[in-house]
Amino acid sequence: MPDAILRLALPSPLRRLFDYLAPEGVSARDLQPGARLRVPFGRREMIGVLVEVSDHSDVPADKLKPALQLLDLQAPMPPALLRLCQWTAQYYQHSLGDTLSWALPVLLRQGEPAEARQERFWLIAKDAHLDDPRLARAPRQRDALKTIAQHPHGVAHQLLSQLQINRDSLQLLQEKGLVRVEVRRLSSPERHANWLAQPELPLNTEQRAATEAIRAGFGSFNAFLLAGVTGSGKTEVYLQLIRETLEAGKQALVLIPEINLGPQTLARFERRFNARIALLHSAVNDRERLDAWLAARDGEADIIIGTRSALFTPMKRPGLIIIDEEHDASYKQQEGLRYHARDLAVVRAHQENVPIVLGSATPSLESLHNAHSGRYAMLRMNQRAGGAHPPRFLRLDIKSRPLDAGMSPPLQQAITQTLAAGQQVLVFLNRRGFAPTLLCHECGWLSECPRCDARMTVHQRSRELRCHHCGHAERQPSNCPSCNNVDLRPVGAGTERAEERLEILFPDVPVLRVDRDSTSRKEAMTTLFNTVQRGEPCILVGTQMLAKGHHFPRVTLVAILDADGGLFSADFRASERMAQLIVQVAGRAGRAEEPGKVIIQSHLADHPLLVQLTEQGYFAFADQALSERRAAGLPPFCHLALLRAEAHKPGQAEGFLDEACNEAEQLLGELNLSGIELLGPVPAPMERRAGRYRAQLLLQGNARAPLHKLLAHWLLMLENLPSGRAVRWSLDVDPIDL
Ligand code: ADP
Ligand code: ZN
Ligand code: ZN
Repeated sequence: MPDAILRLALPSPLRRLFDYLAPEGVSARDLQPGARLRVPFGRREMIGVLVEVSDHSDVPADKLKPALQLLDLQAPMPPALLRLCQWTAQYYQHSLGDTLSWALPVLLRQGEPAEARQERFWLIAKDAHLDDPRLARAPRQRDALKTIAQHPHGVAHQLLSQLQINRDSLQLLQEKGLVRVEVRRLSSPERHANWLAQPELPLNTEQRAATEAIRAGFGSFNAFLLAGVTGSGKTEVYLQLIRETLEAGKQALVLIPEINLGPQTLARFERRFNARIALLHSAVNDRERLDAWLAARDGEADIIIGTRSALFTPMKRPGLIIIDEEHDASYKQQEGLRYHARDLAVVRAHQENVPIVLGSATPSLESLHNAHSGRYAMLRMNQRAGGAHPPRFLRLDIKSRPLDAGMSPPLQQAITQTLAAGQQVLVFLNRRGFAPTLLCHECGWLSECPRCDARMTVHQRSRELRCHHCGHAERQPSNCPSCNNVDLRPVGAGTERAEERLEILFPDVPVLRVDRDSTSRKEAMTTLFNTVQRGEPCILVGTQMLAKGHHFPRVTLVAILDADGGLFSADFRASERMAQLIVQVAGRAGRAEEPGKVIIQSHLADHPLLVQLTEQGYFAFADQALSERRAAGLPPFCHLALLRAEAHKPGQAEGFLDEACNEAEQLLGELNLSGIELLGPVPAPMERRAGRYRAQLLLQGNARAPLHKLLAHWLLMLENLPSGRAVRWSLDVDPIDL
């Protein structure tokens, strides 16, 4: 019988598996798919994941190398997760090895054992007593024993110092046989009789209807779109569904946008449940991530909460998946493996046969389309749960009105009135920095980025010009670099300028700025929100960081300084994003006694989409936008894939894309595919970025299947195109920005 061949996925961009022989002394037939092996690769070593064992290899027998070492007797990755990764790799046309690299915790990729950490626990010995005569003259040992005795499940070694237990005393106690050590996993596997640490809120009618509908779908795959206005109590619905999941002995996975994972959200889950919660987000270190991953895999974590990549957390007893703020763009990864965690979550729910809930106040048009076509059940919640009133919208035409740091006179009056009434104001402007451009009044010089086709933003505080696209920064010049004149003027307004101006206009109230420049640290954010929660008059000014997650019950006026960008952008998704942002920002405001007011400044105040949104609400807007997309044949009524390329020399990227385009046309004929259009290649909307010239080729298909068939064949050809060597290229399936 020939040697069995191990087919491995390696962390390489190449879309293929690599064949090896089993390591010395290991029988290939005993290996499980998912096991990791260390293998030689060129002059390096790599860690690969076994995908299958085969009898056959295309590699000549004398070229096959044995793997160096088997890292796992038991595959660290359960079959369900391997299957999800395989689906992902195929759908996004990404190499399986690289997909696994994105999906697995870093330490597993590096070969760390896939075992939960064992921890030493200190327990009181069976017959030990505090009044043991041997302790009469050893008060420290007695204290230590007392503390240990208070913890019937034992004290984890790492908590000793926190509990002020002296290690030497403990040692002596052990020698006397008064304490003992038990080695076990960190999270105790005990089950709870009562999962609730805090009583639940009695649900209102809408919440009850939604909860019951979803509960009826428990036990198998069912997808729900929970479309509930901000404050309608979606989170309470999630919490009660999770409790039922836990009671059924199952685990729940909750995905949250990056920016929402503030302490507020987490605290709500922790306060509610006697449950083991595993956290997976970008601030979690590698070891914690691995521990959380293992705890979820082994069924020791009951609730898994995390951002985008937590989607790839294995679960022993999956019961429910929740995607909060499903419309949020942070669910789409924009580099490497360009997956959409929301879309993959639906696939996963289907594969693992569990229900999934997509929640949002402003559902994506894709999800609404899925609801309309019956793939998702739509559940609406239109009332604010706490009894607060929805805000009123006011469109403010700023054509030919003077703007002072982006604010028109009527808006300034509205701010004055609100503050005078002892209330808070939120000023929203999705542009950080002082001003988007510096202009020479003499010769017209503009602060262009030397590496991008973009202007550099003026940052007044740091006296810098900064490019928000490539990170390039330089000192703000005091004279024009072109004509040496000193009359340089910042043009337009960003949050920094609005803040500065508001401080001058309203010297008696605090002005708090929230954007990436001001709140890179968590504590700063917390201090800020405490100030706001105290309720005194103040002005919050910031970017979309303000639009997410937090509720400001004392804010009664929301000012949106510039809604124009969303109305005449080249990107067909811009209006959807603008509408979501406006509704989300508006949702921060208002309380029971005092409805909020939202003022939207625009040069296009009568734009039909804006009118629809402000007068009839998000869902009317979405219907209108969807019918425009249908008429134009845009997603979700067609399927897109975008091939991007960039190179150091102009023309190189287009050259590659031209060839790619020819290959695709040829394949269309060979494979006899129809309903697919190739658009381009064209220069990217910002052609030069960070010194590279960028171009793109768009593929548009009426149906998904033929498009994906083409992609699968095409990418294998692209890997071998010589012109591809000089460019950096990537494919984006279902791109969300074009
Ligand atoms: P959403 O997630 O839809 O924005 P939340 O779940 O955060 O809404 O609820 C908004 C506010 O209403 C919270 O302060 C919450 O405690 C409160 N709330 C939610 N459900 C109820 C209820 N059934 N009865 C009373 N208050 C509720
Ligand atoms: Zn000049
Ligand atoms: Zn730049």
